[in-house]
Amino acid sequence: MTSIAANLQAVRERIATACRAAGRREDSVSLLAVSKTWPAANLRQAAVAGQAAFGENYVQEAVDKIAALRGLGLEWHFIGPLQSNKTRPVAENFDWVHSVDRLKIAERLAAQRPATLPPLELCLQVNVSGEASKSGCAPADAPALAAAILRLGGVRLRGLMAIPEPSPDVALQRRRFATLRATLERINAESGAGLDTLSMGMSDDLEAAIMEGATIVRVGTAIFGQREYQTP
Ligand SMILES: *Cc1c(COP(=O)(O)O)cnc(C)c1O
Repeated sequence: MTSIAANLQAVRERIATACRAAGRREDSVSLLAVSKTWPAANLRQAAVAGQAAFGENYVQEAVDKIAALRGLGLEWHFIGPLQSNKTRPVAENFDWVHSVDRLKIAERLAAQRPATLPPLELCLQVNVSGEASKSGCAPADAPALAAAILRLGGVRLRGLMAIPEPSPDVALQRRRFATLRATLERINAESGAGLDTLSMGMSDDLEAAIMEGATIVRVGTAIFGQREYQTP
């Protein structure tokens, strides 16, 4: 077994253990393998080990890997900051975008999604850490933004995503994730939209996220190892 396959198995076991601790079904949490900075060959190893969903942060790097791995039936999630001049390749190549933080981005993705493809699945990124983090909309602004995105064609709003500030304090991790869950519940209560996705939890805090209701955990380092560089 390759180390990537072994790491994947260990992460799947962490997810299963956390689900049991939370009294949740194991299949209620899906694993997104965050593969930014890693070459296509590493993703292929993960795919051979049964991993189908991959998260990428950088548009050009991702588009190259999607082309290299076409035919494997993989699912691609864009999770990085998205500038409005980069929305077209994302709308054309990805299945999901987790990092929508303003209406203009959602409108461009909706307009640029090819009609031949299924709607692009979206999550609204929410800043649950206040001053400590800059990306994402404020929780108080999320319901109005969600309502506007729900009116767009070509995209389908599925839920919310957050990247809380890193902290070793599990109680603090849980409070941040609980804020995202409460925001989702508020949107569903107000809009009846039935949003079903909470994208939260990474290598160091996936257990706390699962306790608070995560449905997608985004895990990079624990699968592929420590990243050696950041692309711009
Ligand atoms: C890099 C990244 C991850 C994965 O983080 P790890 O700590 O390596 O598991 C998850 N989500 C987002 C948005 C990221 O940019």
